[in-house]
Amino acid sequence: MKLAMIGFGQAGGKIVDRFLDYDDRTNSGIVRAAIAVNSAKADLMGLDRIPQENRVLIGQARVKGHGVGADNELGAEIAEEDIDEVQNAIDQIPTHEVDAFLIVAGMGGGTGSGGAPVLAKHLKRIYTIPVYGLGVLPGTDEGGIYTLNAARSFQTFVREVDNLLVFDNDSWRQTGESVEGGYDQINEEIVRRFGILFGAGEVSGNQDVAESVVDSSEIINTLSGGGVSTVGFASEGVELNSGGGLLSRFTGDDSGGDGLDAANTTNRITSLVRKAALGRLTLPCEIEGTERALLVVAGPSEYLNRKGIERGRKWLEEETGSMEVRGGDYPRQEPEVAATILLSGVTNVPRIKRLQQVAIEAQDNMEDIKAESEENLESLVDDGEDELEPLF
Ligand code: GDP
Repeated sequence: MKLAMIGFGQAGGKIVDRFLDYDDRTNSGIVRAAIAVNSAKADLMGLDRIPQENRVLIGQARVKGHGVGADNELGAEIAEEDIDEVQNAIDQIPTHEVDAFLIVAGMGGGTGSGGAPVLAKHLKRIYTIPVYGLGVLPGTDEGGIYTLNAARSFQTFVREVDNLLVFDNDSWRQTGESVEGGYDQINEEIVRRFGILFGAGEVSGNQDVAESVVDSSEIINTLSGGGVSTVGFASEGVELNSGGGLLSRFTGDDSGGDGLDAANTTNRITSLVRKAALGRLTLPCEIEGTERALLVVAGPSEYLNRKGIERGRKWLEEETGSMEVRGGDYPRQEPEVAATILLSGVTNVPRIKRLQQVAIEAQDNMEDIKAESEENLESLVDDGEDELEPLF
C-alpha cells in the first residue's frame, strides 16, 4: 500500500529516511511521500533522503532550532502551535494517491514523543484515510525520564491513531554495540519488517501473478478496530539458479514441475510461520488473545505455496484464538522466503505494564526530588549562624 510517512523527531526522521532507502533498494513503492518534522535544526540537516522542502522545523520562536531536550510536554505544545507549518508540507503531497498516513516517532524523547500524537489528532480530523502510528519504545537502560515520556506518549498516541504499531528498542539491543551503530541495525530491522508488510499490498502489474496476493484492503482491515500491533518475522535463504529458475538450498528432492518439491515448500512455509509468531516480535507479548492477524509470505513465486500459507494461517488461528486471521502471498524476486505476521489488537503485553510501573516510580521520584530541592538549596546556601549577609 502507498503511505505518506511523517517522521517526527530524530528517531522518526531517521527511520523514514531509511524507508526511502529500502524503497529504492527493493522497488517496493510504499513511500508515496516522506516528511520530517523536528524542533532541532541539526537533526533535520542530518537526514539523507527526505527532500529538503519536506523538512519542517517547528518551534523556532520557542526553542530557536535547538530541540526540546526530552521535554515532551513542550514537544506537544510546539506541535500544536506550529501545526499549520506541518499541514503546509502535507498540502504539497498528493494525498488522493495515498492509502494511509504513517507517523513515525521515538516515544522516549521530546519532539516526536509529544508531537506525534498531536499530529495524529490533527490528521484524523481532516482526512478520511487511516492514520497509523509507528512508535519506538526506549531501551530500559535509557533512564527514568525516557521511560516516563514513553509511557505518557504511548497512552496518548494509541488513543489518537487508527492503530499503533510498536517497536521495542529494548528487545533489539545488541551488547557491545555503540548506540549509533546499534540504531543502524535496529532501523534496518524496522524497515525490513514493516517494509514487507506494507509492500505486500503494493504488487505492481509486471511482477509475478501470485496465487493469492495480499491486497492493501486486507492490511487496512487487519489494522482497523484500533489498538496496538506487533510484527513477527522469519526468513530462510533460497537460491536463484543460473538458468533463471530457482533451486532451494534446502530442497533435496526436486521432483516438482518447477524443480521444487511441493512438500518441502509447504513445510518451509509452515515452519517459518511458527518461527515468526513464536520468535522475537517488534513488541514482545502473548499472542493468545490477539484480535486480528495477517500472514504475509514473501518470496519468489515458485516457493509461495497455497497449502503452506493456508496451514500457517490455520495454525495462527489456533494459537491466537482469533477468528479474523487473513493470509496471502507477496511475490518478490529476492533470494529468500519470508513470513511476516501482523498481530493487531494485542492486549496481553507485560512489557507495557513494566514500562508503566517504572514510569510511575520515576514520576514519584522526580516529584520528591523537586519538593526537596528548595529545602536542600536553602540549607546549602545558609551558613547556619546567619553570620554572612548576602550583598543585596
Ligand atoms: P526527539 O528528537 O526529541 O523526538 O527524540 P529522539 O527521536 O532523538 O529520541 C527518542 C527516543 O528514540 C530515544 O530515547 C531512543 O529510544 C529512540 N531513538 C533515537 N534514535 C533512534 C534511532 O535511530 N532508531 C531507533 N530505533 N530508535 C531511536
